Amino acid sequence: MADEKFDVVVIGGGSKALVTALYLQSYGGMKVCIFERMHELGGAWCSIERLAPGFIGDTHSSTMSDWYFLPLLYDFPKFEEYGAKFFGYKVGLAQVIKSKPEDSLVIYSYFDDPSGEKTAKEIARYSERDAETFLKFDDAHFRLGRREALLETIFSIAPPPEEPDPMERWYKDYLKRPDAVLDPQLILMSMVDSGRALFESSEYRALMTSVIARMDINPMKPLGGTGWFIAQGRRENNRVVGGTHNIAHAVIRLFVEHGGKFYSRREVDKIIIENGTAKGIRLTDGTEVSGRIVVSGQDPYQLAFRFIGKEHLERKVWMKVGALDRSENMINWYTFALHEIPRYTAAARNPDIDTAQWTHIANGEDDEMAKEACLRYAGLEPPCPQVRCCPTDSDIDPTRQPPGKGTLLVETLTLPKTFRSEREWLKYKMDMARHMINEIHIAAPNIRWESVIGVDSNGPFDIGNRHLNMATGNQLVVDPNPATKGKFAPIIEWARHRIPGVKNLYGTGSAWSSFHSAYCGQGYKCYKAIAEDFNLRKPWEEKNRPW
Ligand SMILES: Cc1cc2nc3c(=O)[nH]c(=O)nc-3n(C[C@H](O)[C@H](O)[C@H](O)COP(=O)(O)OP(=O)(O)OC[C@H]3O[C@@H](n4cnc5c(N)ncnc54)[C@H](O)[C@@H]3O)c2cc1C
Repeated sequence: MADEKFDVVVIGGGSKALVTALYLQSYGGMKVCIFERMHELGGAWCSIERLAPGFIGDTHSSTMSDWYFLPLLYDFPKFEEYGAKFFGYKVGLAQVIKSKPEDSLVIYSYFDDPSGEKTAKEIARYSERDAETFLKFDDAHFRLGRREALLETIFSIAPPPEEPDPMERWYKDYLKRPDAVLDPQLILMSMVDSGRALFESSEYRALMTSVIARMDINPMKPLGGTGWFIAQGRRENNRVVGGTHNIAHAVIRLFVEHGGKFYSRREVDKIIIENGTAKGIRLTDGTEVSGRIVVSGQDPYQLAFRFIGKEHLERKVWMKVGALDRSENMINWYTFALHEIPRYTAAARNPDIDTAQWTHIANGEDDEMAKEACLRYAGLEPPCPQVRCCPTDSDIDPTRQPPGKGTLLVETLTLPKTFRSEREWLKYKMDMARHMINEIHIAAPNIRWESVIGVDSNGPFDIGNRHLNMATGNQLVVDPNPATKGKFAPIIEWARHRIPGVKNLYGTGSAWSSFHSAYCGQGYKCYKAIAEDFNLRKPWEEKNRPW
């Protein structure tokens, strides 16, 4: 291995670096090698049969859409054939309020309800005016250009900080429209406050706020007004047939077919830097591998504090990386193998709730998730954390479980890995599994502990142990907020994927994001930066697309 010559060495084969590696190998014509510390590539694109034999669960990302992978779908015609297939749900989001389980709020998916009219009728049961406001948000996102601006933003290298990105340009124009639902003040408000100014129905506010609280916006912090759009975009989410690891398989197969090489169970410890230029990597076993270009697919902390070191970085950069927060986005992500999926009491009114991707089982208070977040910020666990769940059975995706059975992904939020000892986590995990089943039982009486065949309980303790880049157990690597997203992600100096002070070194990973998730954009944008610097092929220009 040490004798081999590579143009590019890549640190880690996760959902971002793998995509950079694929583009460099295929369109860039470079000889690329990935070094991955786990037994296989894919990182958080991971699905395993751990809950019970024959049942597959996504351990680290599950909600995805085909638009997360648009560049790959355009640039690699075999991507879909090799396993990147998606399935949708009739209902995108639903909510059952625990005190009235016979009632529900159902938000249909975009695929089932492209005009939004069916969903508007559901919302109108609570408030006619809210239904109208919902339709205005829906129009702006799906029909007045917000979706296109989002795609352009998340698949383009961030502009310099003083220039607007495509989404900022869109907002500037949109806010001039007389029918705009948002205004600059609403955008500055928190999601809870802007929700109270926009919607009458606490049920609608509670559902949408809890969606966002689980993704990336703390509902009580400023700059939450745009969260109403993000929640709207969730109507377009789906999942990967057979599990998200199939995306990894498709990308790896393309990479290898184009001549790419990888080594698993090889942990990188250092980037070799000579005269301010990256020359290769050193593994934990001491092996050195040289490359003209080094790509890190890791978190900013490993990149700065482990791979590069203080001597090569400006003090300001060093300090800023150290100040990046990663204490908020902790989830319990359990997949249950079940004899059957939930059948909701509320299905008597609207049977479509049984086809919901995510059902929130809630108290119906719009600040429920904000209160939970406050407690966690103080290091305390809320007594009864809100549960949401996502089913599959053979009608939804027959590849994930034996015929007649079901799987149920269930989520609550929690505290960082270090807040409990291993023994305490073990006890907590058992208690949490029971809490989840008890809460779901309120909404769907057919689910009880006897329905459970097995469970894969995955929380910050497991996530932090498995992923060096998510060391605190943070699902998004770095907590997203307006100061760590887009042109500022993860810090201004690194946002365009180059690492000032170290020539030929590029950074990517979840933290380089305008959209924190398992989408492929950060990896694609990193290739764009390298293609600019080394004059490589640019498929987006050849195919004349805006991103
Ligand atoms: C429980 C959970 C649920 C989630 N749910 C969703 C969801 O539903 N939808 C969604 O879009 N996103 C979801 N996410 C978020 C998303 O999966 C991650 O933010 C994203 O995939 C991280 O991508 P990455 O490339 O930065 O890291 P990873 O995919 O983790 O890749 C990093 C890779 O680098 C390797 N590595 C680390 N250190 C080294 C080293 N020193 N040397 C060599 N290799 C190394 C790791 O083993 C790993 O393979 C979830 C995350 C978690 C944890």
